[in-house]
Amino acid sequence: MTMLDEDMLERFRQRADQYDRENVFPTEDFEELRKAGYFAALVPKELGGQGLSLLEIVALQKRLAAAAPATALSINMHQIWVGVARALWERGDRSLKFVLDDASRGELFALAISEAGNDLVLFGSKTQAEPQADGSYLFSGTKIFTSLSPAWTRLAVFGLDSTSEDSPKLVHAVLDRTTEGIEVLDDWDTLGMRATQSHTTVLKRAKATQDRVHRRLDPGPSADPLILAIFANFEILLSSVYTGIAERAIELAINSVKARTSSKAGGALKSADPDLRWRIADAAIALDGVHPQLREVARQFDEKADLGDDWFRVLVGLKVRAINTAQFVVNQSMKVAGGGSYFSRNELSRLYRDVLAGSFQPSNDDSAHSTVAQNLLGHI
Ligand SMILES: Cc1cc2nc3c(=O)[nH]c(=O)nc-3n(C[C@H](O)[C@H](O)[C@H](O)COP(=O)(O)OP(=O)(O)OC[C@H]3O[C@@H](n4cnc5c(N)ncnc54)[C@H](O)[C@@H]3O)c2cc1C
Repeated sequence: MTMLDEDMLERFRQRADQYDRENVFPTEDFEELRKAGYFAALVPKELGGQGLSLLEIVALQKRLAAAAPATALSINMHQIWVGVARALWERGDRSLKFVLDDASRGELFALAISEAGNDLVLFGSKTQAEPQADGSYLFSGTKIFTSLSPAWTRLAVFGLDSTSEDSPKLVHAVLDRTTEGIEVLDDWDTLGMRATQSHTTVLKRAKATQDRVHRRLDPGPSADPLILAIFANFEILLSSVYTGIAERAIELAINSVKARTSSKAGGALKSADPDLRWRIADAAIALDGVHPQLREVARQFDEKADLGDDWFRVLVGLKVRAINTAQFVVNQSMKVAGGGSYFSRNELSRLYRDVLAGSFQPSNDDSAHSTVAQNLLGHI
């Protein structure tokens, strides 16, 4: 657990404002993370990694997000994919061993799942996957919001094979950055999470060699362990990032009331103001409920708990609670900190912009509620 020491996190915090203002990737942060072995944090020890559990990385990602939200959300994409490979490995499935080997060598994985207008998310794709005689696939399509765009060396993609005899099939593979036919557009200029540099990626017959094609699945919901592994790692790690942001917001709210005085109260510190005390307590009560839920869901996944279909309900429920709570907490913290927090130089105003991104990441509120309703009431 010493991989992210306090001095390092403080350096990340100092740099976060500049990366955000200049809308650039946190290159220096990533160099430090690589040197600290963080790219291989989830790789099992027997494969040359640090052998951390999901529960342990959740704690680290929370700390990292409290220092530098966009750095945390970017490396989160890598951790998700390595976490997927690790989960399969621990369940006796070796199909993503190459991911673990690459990660232990310092390769950086990005996820190219999202496509404009594809609300089927993992259950369908607008990207074409053309089968080749040697077992490789050529991918053509446009992926949006690819975090880590300036830095990734490996790209996890999927697309639809509609020409093979047994088609349609959703083909999952990993592309190498050096492959021809990958164009990264310079189009990331957003409200928040600016340093993630999640550009659009255009694939034009980009080749995944046969040894990097790891799944051919029927479109639609799938019982393949890959799908649960993606959902679990994604929702749990995403929740950890936004929970870290919320923790930092409360810290900043507390600092602000300890530094300001009230004329109405005869110059007493604002930390004695009952209304502000109540608001901080209210935010803390909400956040205190997320930590144990997050830890418990991560622990259950580490321990391979068999929750059957309930897994999806549990995971989307965690994500929605974590993100909604983080947004509530940041909002409350802004109110506590007062007008100063509205200045863009104030860290809270950046957290306010960054925390909003959680609403757009899967599962969004509506799709999560439909998943839970389906679990409780069945299909309609
Ligand atoms: C900070 C951040 C980082 C992210 N990182 C990643 C990542 O690393 N990998 C990844 O796969 N995803 C990533 N995502 C994407 C995320 O998971 C969502 O897919 C994304 O936010 C789009 O959400 P949406 O479906 O609500 O968007 P929508 O608003 O439905 O669509 C997004 C874009 O597609 C256009 N669009 C919508 N419908 C259509 C249509 N029918 N035809 C044509 N265009 C259409 C919209 O105009 C918009 O530009 C990230 C998101 C954020 C906010």
